Amino acid sequence: MANDSVLMPFKDRDHAHQSCLEKALDQAVKNCESSGVRLTPLRRRVLELIWGSHMPVKAYDLLDQLRDEKIGSAPPTVYRSLDFLLEEGLIHKLQSLNAYVGCGEPLKHHTSQFLICRDCGEVAEMDDPDIQQVLSRKAESLGFQVLDKTIEIQGLCEKCIAG
Ligand SMILES: [Zn+2]
Ligand SMILES: [Zn+2]
Ligand SMILES: [Zn+2]
Repeated sequence: MANDSVLMPFKDRDHAHQSCLEKALDQAVKNCESSGVRLTPLRRRVLELIWGSHMPVKAYDLLDQLRDEKIGSAPPTVYRSLDFLLEEGLIHKLQSLNAYVGCGEPLKHHTSQFLICRDCGEVAEMDDPDIQQVLSRKAESLGFQVLDKTIEIQGLCEKCIAG
């Protein structure tokens, strides 16, 4: 698999996460400018919270956090912000965990295969069109129409295997 097909690798525990966050916010601003949509303060804050780490975040944790910050956002408003971020491709929803994770390369058109560590919870994102093509062909041979091509794989990351 070519290197450029890794959208978000597993990170060292002591990596400078601030730069991940800054890159994500920068890409979000660029994305919104080119789509002509607004990154409102709430949308931006929700994105920041999701990018708090490389672990998926559940909606109710976001709601708790925003309530603590007294941003006073009603749940429907927060859910609409999540929908916005999903539509813009800035975050992804992991169906198997019912949680959200920041997209590694939102400005790039891509497929997503997620590797989810069962131990620490960290998520890596890959984009390998070959995997998608094989699956789509098999599905079509069964007369199955694929609607969501996202793949979520559970396992253990290198750090957790090493202990
Ligand atoms: Zn990071
Ligand atoms: Zn992505
Ligand atoms: Zn792990």
